[in-house]
Amino acid sequence: MKSNQAALKQLRERMERKRVDALYISNPPNVRYLSGFSTPVDGKVVVTQTSVRLFTDFRYIVQTEEECFVPVTIWKGKERLSHVKRHLNRLKVETLGIEAEHTSVGMLRTLKSAFDCRIKQTNGLVDEMRAVKTPEEIERIRKAAEVNDLAFKHMLGFLKPGQTEIDVTLELEWYLRRNAAFELAFDVIAAAGPNGAKPHAHPGNRKIKNNELLTLDFGSVWQGYRSDMTRTVGFGHPGRELKKMYHTVLDAQVAGVEAIRPDITGQHVDRVSRKIIKDAGYHKYFGHSLGHGVGLEIHERPRLAPHSKDILAPNMVVTVEPGIYVPNFAGVRIEDLVLVTETGKDVLSQSPKELICL
Ligand code: ZN
Ligand code: ZN
Repeated sequence: MKSNQAALKQLRERMERKRVDALYISNPPNVRYLSGFSTPVDGKVVVTQTSVRLFTDFRYIVQTEEECFVPVTIWKGKERLSHVKRHLNRLKVETLGIEAEHTSVGMLRTLKSAFDCRIKQTNGLVDEMRAVKTPEEIERIRKAAEVNDLAFKHMLGFLKPGQTEIDVTLELEWYLRRNAAFELAFDVIAAAGPNGAKPHAHPGNRKIKNNELLTLDFGSVWQGYRSDMTRTVGFGHPGRELKKMYHTVLDAQVAGVEAIRPDITGQHVDRVSRKIIKDAGYHKYFGHSLGHGVGLEIHERPRLAPHSKDILAPNMVVTVEPGIYVPNFAGVRIEDLVLVTETGKDVLSQSPKELICL
């Protein structure tokens, strides 16, 4: 059993500043972060200055005993919220914070009628804390990134023209699941030829042709923590324009990674990388942000984006993933997972980035 005492201490300070006696935590990754419960979609956590408790149901009696590092209340049937109400009343909670960005309007109404205390909307109290990882969290992300590197190596031996994106996706998913405790960080993206121009393309039945590019974006999960990596490979001899797109993205990606260090904004890193794409004349073909934090969720704080005021700090883990997407022609994206360190960065993705043609 491991505890999360440092996180709890920090959260209690943040709750004090927000003037809430208790926080009702419903966002599943936050529930997991504070309790260790690995099916957090079926749990809620209540934190006060003196207590922390997970509420879940009968199905998880054994599982919570194995996993959780906080006390657990097993709630029953329709009276679920009455268990929380009794808990809040016993602790004399007057103001209960809720996670507004993760609470539907309907649920807000339900909570207001279920509890006697005042409900106050808060934003990001736990989510912001999760941006800076503990050494233990970093090790899990590092392990998930290693699985990605092994998977890419495996795919280099598998890929051939004539396969469909679905063939490629199935092989990659099979490898990731065999090697990463069964869970994928998100649905694999395998986008070839003109499909590559869609950043979140769905794999299809079209056969991959010679002289095309294929973008693979994938991630695995290790003990709850995710990894994220993209590589674009070629088949046969991709033409001059495809090569120019590739090398522009590569230069932008390397420059973005180079720019990473503590105390700069996400906006700064985005600008350094985006400028290279702009200078090469592809500005209008790069419309998404440069990167995002990764941890219990695949997209979390901080953001590397044109308007991001998020400031990088040691032990944050972010992606750097510029791309160029030319409609009805092709797409290129290259993405690494990068740990921010005291002095700069440590690139967790180790797979080669030069254009590999199969
Ligand atoms: Zn990705
Ligand atoms: Zn990503």
